[in-house]
This record gives sequence, structure tokens and C-alpha cells, in this order.
Amino acid sequence: MRWGNPLMAASAPHERARPLAKGSVYPAKDLCSQCGLCDSRWVAYVKNSCAFLEQRFEAMEAAAHGRSRDLDNEEELYFGVQQRMLTARLQQPIEGAQWTGIVSRIGVRALETGLVDAVLCVGQSEADRFTPVPRLARTPEEVLSARVNKPTLSPNLEVLEQLPGSGIRKLLAIGVGCQIQALRAVQPTLPLDELYVLGLPCVDNVSRAGLQTFLDSTVSSPETVVHYEFMQDFRIHFRHSDGREETVPFFGLDTPKLKDVFAPSCLSCFDYTNAGADLVVGYMGASFGRQWLTVRNPRGQLLLDLVEEELDMAPVTSSGERFAAVQQGIEAYDKALKLPMWLANLIGLVVQRLGPKGLEYGRFSIDSHFTRNALWLRRNHPGKLEAHIPAFAKAIISRYRLPAS
Ligand code: FAD
Ligand code: SF4
Repeated sequence: MRWGNPLMAASAPHERARPLAKGSVYPAKDLCSQCGLCDSRWVAYVKNSCAFLEQRFEAMEAAAHGRSRDLDNEEELYFGVQQRMLTARLQQPIEGAQWTGIVSRIGVRALETGLVDAVLCVGQSEADRFTPVPRLARTPEEVLSARVNKPTLSPNLEVLEQLPGSGIRKLLAIGVGCQIQALRAVQPTLPLDELYVLGLPCVDNVSRAGLQTFLDSTVSSPETVVHYEFMQDFRIHFRHSDGREETVPFFGLDTPKLKDVFAPSCLSCFDYTNAGADLVVGYMGASFGRQWLTVRNPRGQLLLDLVEEELDMAPVTSSGERFAAVQQGIEAYDKALKLPMWLANLIGLVVQRLGPKGLEYGRFSIDSHFTRNALWLRRNHPGKLEAHIPAFAKAIISRYRLPAS
């Protein structure tokens, strides 16, 4: 009898839950980032785990790193709990990786050294380079074939469904902020002995359809793009399948067309620098061509130890001044201006020569996105504004003048 079964009564909520049907309305509704949690039995905990239903940065940081970030420390205010920040590049870059491939190399070494049994990473569909296919990679080859960004919302946590009975007890999870927030929230209920988290900074992600709109309006031949990145020289760099490189200045984007392209989840997100990861590997706090690493705790250092001797490392640096550029950007974005290309190129050149670099470029990007997202929330989800913006983001946003309505 269903309700009288003592085993049922003793089981954890996820043992009784079923993944939601793909395509149904998920609990966060329009704000859902399709992180994949609801595509697994761990949907049982969605109310207290989803990054878009309730923000819980302090609790997450305290559980993952032993303390929450120090809001009076400017570097922690911006980049989160940390014991070390540095820039690096692999001495032998991995061909086809997003940058030099530090993330893939850590995944490979974690398997080779037996630190973990599997790596949660994102491959691509056979039919489409930009359609993400999350997987639990068990071999270095599988990790390597997941290299390079799939710049679209990816349901990484759907593979949690494969954990029970898989024999995987030690896992390295690679993911972006919203995925990691949900993962950290359900971590105590996962059938794992060890979980290591390698985070990517993330901003302005899009659905697959949104990506097409972006490519169609920005690049000369959208169908041949295999790789792109918004880089520290204030240009978007596209690589085509024939090896050709094309760059477009940020300031030349067709803002009126692109205003609605970003996913609502990303327009309401303040976890740009992936607060819950043990180690974060991005690029925006480093000089052009290098990667930027934030070690948040001893587990993050353990991950870095796996590849440290293969890295050309350097300290982080910072120069320039971001405030005026961010304030002007708020006003230009709000008016949805589209600049002629000659002017966009000219502004790009000036900003590239005189503008923020290193950590200051990272702060420029964080400030620009946090202020834009606060405005978006105010206009689209006013009831969520107060609870949804974490204390560190409120402190950053308060440094700027936002339009009154
Ligand atoms: P690689 O060795 O090429 O490995 C890339 C890894 O990314 C793979 O392991 C794969 O599993 C994972 N991955 C790919 N697509 C996704 C996805 N959609 N969701 C989750 N995981 C994925 N860095 C910044 O400094 N600033 C940014 O604004 C920024 N935005 C980003 C936006 C997105 C959507 C993504 C996925 C990453 C972003 N990054 C950003 C991180 C940066 O682009 C690189 O991914 C990072 O520096 C690692 O480079 P790599 O060469 O070491 O990675
Ligand atoms: Fe579920 Fe993730 Fe969507 Fe939240 S963001 S509703 S946890 S799939």
C-alpha cells in the first residue's frame, strides 16, 4: 500500500521524485536557466536550490568555503571568497579549446591521477556545434572532446540522474554559476564521497534560437562560426571553420536588435564570478591571451596543483579607470543606441588604449552587467528586486546613477 510502506516513509525526497517533463513550465518560469536540476530526481529540492527562486549566496559560500565573502575587501566584494588570484596559460595550449584549455587539462589530470571517477562536462550535439550535451566523462578523451564553450543554456545537472548505480563516488563538476548554485544546494543529498567544483564565470548566455539572432546580426557568415568570445580588447573575436578570424567592436553591436536576445535568467543573474566554485577559470581579469584564475579554498588549490607545473603563471595586474565608461554605458544601453561602424571602431580603439585592463577590466564588466541587470529586474520583476540582488551586488550597483524608471 503506497502511503503505508515504511521504506517509502524513510526515503529521502529525491528517491520519490521524478524529473519534470522536458518542455513543461519549470518552477522559475520565465527566469529558468534550464540548469538541468529539474530534469533530475533532485527536482525534489528545487524550492530551496534554484538560483532564480531564492538567492542564498552567504549560506552557499559559508558551506563551500568556510566563510562568506568580506564585503569590506574590494577584491572579495567583486570576485568572491578567495585565497589566491593569478593569471596563467598552458605552456602547450590545447588545440580547439576556448582559451588555452586549462579547464580541460584539469579535467584530464583529475581522471588520470584518480582524484575523481568522472567529470561533469558539456559536449556538443553531432548535428550542431552550439547545442550542448552534458555528460559524465569517464576518460580523458571524453573530457577533451567537451572542450570549447557551447555559448547556450546547458542543462548540466540533468546528468545527476545517471549517478545512482553508476559507481561514481568522486566527481569533478565543471559549470557556470546557476548550475553550481543548484548543485551546491543539493550536494549533501548526492550519492558522492567527494565533489570538486571547477567554475566558469558566465554572463549574457542565450537560448539556441537567441544565439542564432546574435550571430545573424553580428557576423559575416553565421553558419561557419565555430568559436567566439567577448575579449579584453573590447572586441568580439569570431573564428570560422576555415580558420579565418573576424572581430567586431562591442560598441558596434546592433543593441536595438539584441536587447531581448539574452536569456531572462542571465538578465537577472548576479553570480558572474561563480561564487560557489572551488576554483574559477575565466579570462576577464587577465591581459589579452591569458586566463584568470581564482582559488577560493584548499580544494580549489588541489585542482590547480594538478596542472600548476604545466602553466606559465603571472600575478594579476590592474590599470585604467572604469567608472566613467560604465556610467556612459548605462545611458547608451538604456537608449538602445546603434552606432555607425566607423564610430564604434574609433571608440573601441580609444578604450582599448586608455581603458581598464586586468582586474579593472573585470570590474568594468561586472559593474556594467550588474547595473543593467538591476534595471532589467526593476522593470520586469519589481517584486523580486529586493530579495534577488545579493548584498555584494547592491553595494556595487549603488556606486552608479541608474535611470529613475
Ligand atoms: P576549455 O578547456 O575549452 O573547456 C571549456 C569547458 O566549458 C568544458 O569543460 C565544457 O564542459 C564547459 N562548458 C562549455 N559550454 C558550457 C555551458 N554552456 N555551460 C557550462 N559549461 C560549459 N569568462 C570570463 O572571464 N568572462 C565571461 O564573461 C565569460 N562568459 C562565459 C559564458 C559562457 C556561456 C561560458 C560557457 C563561459 C564563459 N566564460 C567567461 C569562461 C571562458 O569563456 C572559458 O570557458 C574559460 O576561461 C575556460 O577556458 P578553457 O580554454 O580553459 O576551456
Ligand atoms: Fe529548475 Fe534549474 Fe530552471 Fe531553476 S533554473 S527552475 S532549478 S531547471
